[in-house]
Amino acid sequence: MCRHLAWLGEPRTLASLVLEPSHGLLRQSYAPRRQSRGLLNADGWGVGFFADGRPEPVRWRSARPLWGDASFVSVAPVLASGAVLAAVRSATEGMPMDESAAAPFTDGQWLLSHNGRVDRSVLPARGDAESVCDSAVLAAHVFAAGVGALAPTVCEVARLDPAASLNLLLTDGSRILAVTWGDPLSYLEDADGVVVASEPWDDDPRWVDVPDRHLLEVTPDGVTRTALEG
Ligand code: GLN
Repeated sequence: MCRHLAWLGEPRTLASLVLEPSHGLLRQSYAPRRQSRGLLNADGWGVGFFADGRPEPVRWRSARPLWGDASFVSVAPVLASGAVLAAVRSATEGMPMDESAAAPFTDGQWLLSHNGRVDRSVLPARGDAESVCDSAVLAAHVFAAGVGALAPTVCEVARLDPAASLNLLLTDGSRILAVTWGDPLSYLEDADGVVVASEPWDDDPRWVDVPDRHLLEVTPDGVTRTALEG
């Protein structure tokens, strides 16, 4: 399973979000602490973020492991944003290994990352998916259904594929939406903002674990969580 995180709050450098936390995504790419399937997340990685004056997000994605991306390490200390989504990938068997299969995916407005797997045959075929990777097809399905319908869309996909694992993170720059379905998420709220992550990036006791089958919404007003119907 992949590992991912989203940040909403005061602008922070990508280095401080992705590379510097002691148990952050960089560490999780080779030594995750709470990962139930897979030992490494070395099959590519990606980060998307919103920049001032641009409504649509920008992305940096790679098919290489995060720890080998020396150019990103060089620029990450000077790239800052108040809305960021990043993921390190452990590819599901049979899925493509190129950069286009690395999250985050986008429809031009939203960024989406999926930790898990889903049977693509239960999803409508979509020519606008960024990759044939199950996560990209799922992203295209969520975008087509409308992000406002995220909860019923997830419940319907889970009904069609009961073995699916559907841990999702989305942001449009003004809020984060997150779903736990088969894999956990945790969040940490402080004066500067909120980070939602597959696993805590440090041992701060303020991290809160989100129960399974929940929708989390993070806005500048705070965090709300709602149980999803099975
Ligand atoms: N199924 C997705 C992929 O192959 C995500 C895998 C994961 O969560 N480890 O990339």
